[in-house]
Amino acid sequence: MTARNGQQYLQGLDDDRIVWLGGKRVHVASEPAFAGSRAGMAGYFDWQLAHADDCLVADPVSGEPMNASLLVPHNRDDLNRRHRCIDRLARYSCGMLGRTPDYVNVTLAGFVARADVFAGTNNRDGAARLARFHREVIERDLALTHTIIHPAIDKGIGELDGINGELATRVVRRTAEGIVIRGAKILATLGPFADELFVYPGPPHPKGASPDYAVAFSIPVATPGLHTVCRDHYGADGAIADRPFSTRFDEQDAFVIFDDVLVPWERVFIDGDLAAYNNIMREGWAANIMQQTAIRAAVKLEFAYDLCTRMARATNAEERGDTPQMLGELWGYAQLTRSAIAAAETNARDWGNGAYFCDDRPLRALRSIMPLWLPRVNEIIKLIGSHNLLATAADAAFAAPELGPLVEKYMPGANGVTARERARLFRTAWDFCGSALGGRVELYERFYLASRARNLALDHVVAQKSESWNNVAEFMKASGI
Ligand SMILES: Cc1cc2nc3c(=O)[nH]c(=O)nc-3n(C[C@H](O)[C@H](O)[C@H](O)COP(=O)(O)OP(=O)(O)OC[C@H]3O[C@@H](n4cnc5c(N)ncnc54)[C@H](O)[C@@H]3O)c2cc1C
Repeated sequence: MTARNGQQYLQGLDDDRIVWLGGKRVHVASEPAFAGSRAGMAGYFDWQLAHADDCLVADPVSGEPMNASLLVPHNRDDLNRRHRCIDRLARYSCGMLGRTPDYVNVTLAGFVARADVFAGTNNRDGAARLARFHREVIERDLALTHTIIHPAIDKGIGELDGINGELATRVVRRTAEGIVIRGAKILATLGPFADELFVYPGPPHPKGASPDYAVAFSIPVATPGLHTVCRDHYGADGAIADRPFSTRFDEQDAFVIFDDVLVPWERVFIDGDLAAYNNIMREGWAANIMQQTAIRAAVKLEFAYDLCTRMARATNAEERGDTPQMLGELWGYAQLTRSAIAAAETNARDWGNGAYFCDDRPLRALRSIMPLWLPRVNEIIKLIGSHNLLATAADAAFAAPELGPLVEKYMPGANGVTARERARLFRTAWDFCGSALGGRVELYERFYLASRARNLALDHVVAQKSESWNNVAEFMKASGI
């Protein structure tokens, strides 16, 4: 089976996975609170088939259709092909779904491309198992979630020291069948709705860290001992017109606990090889994955620009006060994002082993600026939308015999926008930036690729290592100083 449809995806959720929601163990395939999210994710799989020209390519091995995000990129054509797929998939939710399966697909394909780094000092078998896992993901069109960050309860000590080390995910036993994993990880977005949990390296471990923490593996979400502890669910019932994102696109973050989970050897990709663990994220991971994250951000920014323009027209404020400046600001964010992607793709190169990835510099700069831009987008929506974001009739109000004519008459927009059109527009905007889901998405944008503070510091370190900066010295020399 390749390139599944929504129905096939839903069938895969019907198993014994241990998922907790608000203190209650729930059956993901039938839990009423998850109905909208299930439909939303099923819609993603249907979308890839409906837009097969953009989303699917022939599997180089079997010739069957597969999602292009699973392509191992070897040349410019591969990157261009993947770009089309990612862009189309992001349009499904206007970029509001951050961790659709194409995210981890791109990472996995990138790791396979860097099999040389994955092989570490003594990890050729692990790299070979990873390549077989990639084939399995293609052939079964699996939806993967991932979790890579140690819980770091105490920020005053090292990530693996004291209580942090006691609670972090690690190997506690090795048996003939595989490794036994104990500990926790933050977070797994899509956790309850994925088929597989892929645990791969996070930030590098310090010298001297126990090799038991240096693990990478993948297991079905339904593996015994794996607990998926969901945050409060922000999905909403009711008309899609009232809450177009919350009714379908709560991708659900979860805290993950491994309560002595057996991972069979075939699914162990790194077990203690610090070179493989520490280097795989340094040798092209950012350059590879951030093509996906930047394209999603561009789609989202373009949507926000269009949304705000329509809101301004619906109140006849497009040329009033500071509204046009804010619209110009949004347009600029979208343009700069597209330009950074174009620059990164234009300067793509072989990073080693024939792995063809983007130039990471424009993409890493975007990663660090986006946690400022996307919260600012939400602020602009609130400034332009003002009370209109809340003073809108629900979809059902228009059908209510007594209320319908009143809201039609008293709640229209300017410029001929009907009350129903105005309601849908501003409700979409509120769900984007202000609903419970909207608030969660803002937090996601700030942290999903680690904190801005860490990323800025890392950008500087990489800039110093990879390039020489002699502008000042040259100026001094030329000036005879
Ligand atoms: C909604 C959401 C979904 C996520 N989904 C996933 C997922 O699916 N898989 C996954 O693996 N991860 C995921 N993450 C990311 C991950 O779990 C962490 O939240 C993220 O890496 C931030 O880690 P942290 O809280 O330790 O942040 P830190 O890096 O500790 O940053 C927290 C704050 O500390 C301060 N700070 C940090 N470093 C410095 C410094 N050097 N100097 C000064 N101040 C500093 C800053 O104020 C910063 O904002 C997700 C995160 C969120 C919020």
